[in-house]
Amino acid sequence: MEIRPYIFKFGGTSLQTAERIKEVVRIIANYEGPLVVVTSALAGVTNKLVEATTNPASAPDISRQLFKHHMKIAGELGLSDKGLEKFEDYLEATLGDVSISRTAADVRRGELVLSVGERLSTELVARLLMETGRKSKFIDSRDIVRTDSNWGSARVDMNATGALVERTLEKPLMDKIVPVVTGFLGSTAGGDTTTIGRNGSDLTASVLGACLDAPEVWIWTDVDGICTADPRHHKNAKILAEISFREASEAAYFGASVLHPHTLWPLLDTEVAVRIKNTMNPAHEGTLVCANPKKRGANLITTSIENVAVITVSGYGMAGIPGVAATIFTAVRDVSTNILMISQSSAEHNITFIVNADEVSKTVKSLEVALAEWIRRDHRIDRIKVVSDVAVVSVVGENMRGRHGIAGKVFSALGNKGINVIAIAQGSSEYSISAVLMMADMRQAIEAIHSELDTNK
Ligand code: ADP
Ligand code: ASP
Ligand code: MG
Repeated sequence: MEIRPYIFKFGGTSLQTAERIKEVVRIIANYEGPLVVVTSALAGVTNKLVEATTNPASAPDISRQLFKHHMKIAGELGLSDKGLEKFEDYLEATLGDVSISRTAADVRRGELVLSVGERLSTELVARLLMETGRKSKFIDSRDIVRTDSNWGSARVDMNATGALVERTLEKPLMDKIVPVVTGFLGSTAGGDTTTIGRNGSDLTASVLGACLDAPEVWIWTDVDGICTADPRHHKNAKILAEISFREASEAAYFGASVLHPHTLWPLLDTEVAVRIKNTMNPAHEGTLVCANPKKRGANLITTSIENVAVITVSGYGMAGIPGVAATIFTAVRDVSTNILMISQSSAEHNITFIVNADEVSKTVKSLEVALAEWIRRDHRIDRIKVVSDVAVVSVVGENMRGRHGIAGKVFSALGNKGINVIAIAQGSSEYSISAVLMMADMRQAIEAIHSELDTNK
């Protein structure tokens, strides 16, 4: 396609109130070049929809609440609520059939329920944009983003999506119309609705950026850019002007929620860069995330993942038995648990790994079954131990490579505060170092590390 539009993605934090939505529409209207907009659901809406699918008894209430909320916002925006009422009936009808048992059919239907958040918010933004005199068109991403049927975290088929995007968006872009696209949603070749993972609208934006060869993808949120720590909790956090794809992905993976961890994947083989921008401070340049940053300073990023647990499988008989690790990780995979970190002591007497707290009980059950023989027969494995209420604190940055003493600084900062470290991991690429510690120590640990690594000290 000849036209190379920018992609602007607005997250829930930019869509919290009617005032903020007006600000979003002002930003879009002020940009005169070719543009594609991607919107998340209004703040908090997807959480409510998830609650409705997991507890269907709450569904009628939630459906009424959400409907009222969107009607109220539509009113405050001076929009008619015509067309929105269909969503209330639709939500109740869809939710009415979702049972607690979460059978395969329910999970599939749950995706339809979740889709309502983005469809409503996008409709509001597209309509308000029309009111300002800028021509716009609501686009349901289920018509352009093709995925597999991995419900809840469906994977995007870039080839099929590329063709659909070009076919659907070329004409409006040629006619100077702004397509306003629902984030987070896709559909299978068979036409079933899918979602691409919580906070996935960032990924929708980068998928469109790759398909349309955008000059840049702008992720509009409520902070000025990617900072050296989460600015919501750490007042001394500094904004980074530029960082690389690799370190942004690593920071996102280790908990910097400003970007969905998969956002950069579709862009790795492209020239398309990402910029993080603040809806409430649009004049600020934000952070540029690109393949080869030129203005990269020496600052590192301290991140955290809360509410995880440490699972340790140990036993003196474990050393040298072929297949123990394979058995352990197969048992973990069988219950679809995601492992955040792994470490093994050199004597092979234990294997430790970190998982999200809500995946612990199914994982331990699966391990007990898979390892029963080894536990019973000759006590080669003594126990499966779980430590809960744990957090992972990580330091991420390209500048760590070849720079001596970062690990020393991190661990002496923790030691000086008397913070106990349960486990340690360093990425082999030397882009990150992680320490596992108790949740109760997390804030103090981040403060201590962040201040120790401050290059302006
Ligand atoms: P959106 O609704 O726009 O997608 P998110 O809540 O997903 O917004 O992401 C923005 C939030 O990310 C910020 O409010 C901030 O608290 C959080 N965040 C966490 N770590 C960082 C970091 N290192 N730099 C900037 N923001 C961060
Ligand atoms: N609304 C979806 C969520 O809350 C997607 C997104 O916000 O990016 O997960
Ligand atoms: Mg987000």
